[in-house]
Amino acid sequence: MIFFFIAIAIIASSVVAAIKHDSDAPRGSAADATLPAVVVAKRMQVHGGEHAYTSYYATFEFEDNSRREIGLNGARYGILAEGDRGMLTLNGGRFVSFVRSGDRFSAEDPANAVHVCRACGATYRGRVCEYCDTPWTAER
Ligand SMILES: [Zn+2]
Repeated sequence: MIFFFIAIAIIASSVVAAIKHDSDAPRGSAADATLPAVVVAKRMQVHGGEHAYTSYYATFEFEDNSRREIGLNGARYGILAEGDRGMLTLNGGRFVSFVRSGDRFSAEDPANAVHVCRACGATYRGRVCEYCDTPWTAER
């Protein structure tokens, strides 16, 4: 009887291990994931023949230093530039989206910038008006 319980325990622990392993898998793997990435290269390839068409690729580098070349459509290819960094979303290894971060036009940190309070008109530094406690929001 004791062997039966030992067998159950071994099976149960291996199932738990398999589930744990599975939940760790998306990190940097080919599974669906959104990862910080940098565009390091772009490439297009014209496939000849009577009905020529062009394939577009971008090579992304990830935090673990690995690189992957991902196929894109022409419009997405056109708006990517080498050196762009952001969050790359893949689904089954296929490109879904790339959201750039580090906007060159608003590099200033709002936590340290001087703002004019939209509620009381006072000038203050930081994220919250020191006179009326109105939080700073980005102007649209
Ligand atoms: Zn205020």
